[in-house]
Amino acid sequence: MRKKIVAGNWKMNTTLQEGIALANDLKNALAGKTPKCDVVVCTPYISVAAVAETVKGSVIGVGAEDCSANEKGAFTGEVSASMVASTGAKYCILGHSERRQYHGEDNALLIKKLNLALANGLTPIFCVGEVKEEREANTFKSVIEGQMAAVYTLSAADFAKVVIAYEPVWAIGTGLTATSAQAQEVHASIRASIAAKYDKATAENTSILYGGSCKGSNAPELFAQPDIDGGLIGGAALKAADFMQIIEAWK
Ligand code: PEP
Repeated sequence: MRKKIVAGNWKMNTTLQEGIALANDLKNALAGKTPKCDVVVCTPYISVAAVAETVKGSVIGVGAEDCSANEKGAFTGEVSASMVASTGAKYCILGHSERRQYHGEDNALLIKKLNLALANGLTPIFCVGEVKEEREANTFKSVIEGQMAAVYTLSAADFAKVVIAYEPVWAIGTGLTATSAQAQEVHASIRASIAAKYDKATAENTSILYGGSCKGSNAPELFAQPDIDGGLIGGAALKAADFMQIIEAWK
């Protein structure tokens, strides 16, 4: 059975102190509760270790928002997958549209990152999604298939460790959410593509998250779709109460 997951992506929004406070708020909000999904927070590099320490013993998993495509060495400013893993983090967002857009990340680079994340025991949360023009030109399915080609270089055993996040770029941080029908259509087509590339069991076991202005008010309808297994949450992950509403959308 595939996992249901609600994962936060704090982006470049929290100082170390703010990140620890947010992690504490979330830990307290979850205390004594049994969420019906896995809960993950992906934080800026500078707070990954402290947040991992803060939430130790709770149900919250921790991740980074990226990792280097290089293993180690003279790469000033970069943070390797092994460094991320050394904090106790278990997840790593890869291929977020903001990395693709502002840092020119392409499949060749993402394949290196995927392999390093997996080699270091991290679960990649691999993002795909079309921009507005591609949605309007109705080319979004082939765009997403092209992005999925990076994860399709993995063996079936490694692919089984990856979480996919469908994030229509036009819906990220814009307040525009894909309708549940639009999201379901893409999630189903990603799942069919995984089945064609690997097999039906692999496709059925892959968690595919939706991301793009997901919040407490629209999460229940999105999560009710058969192929939506949770969310990757930006803005609404920055306050524990907002994030909790999304977690609690899983009844
Ligand atoms: C994201 O960047 O992963 C995201 C989904 O952001 P938001 O929820 O703010 O649209």
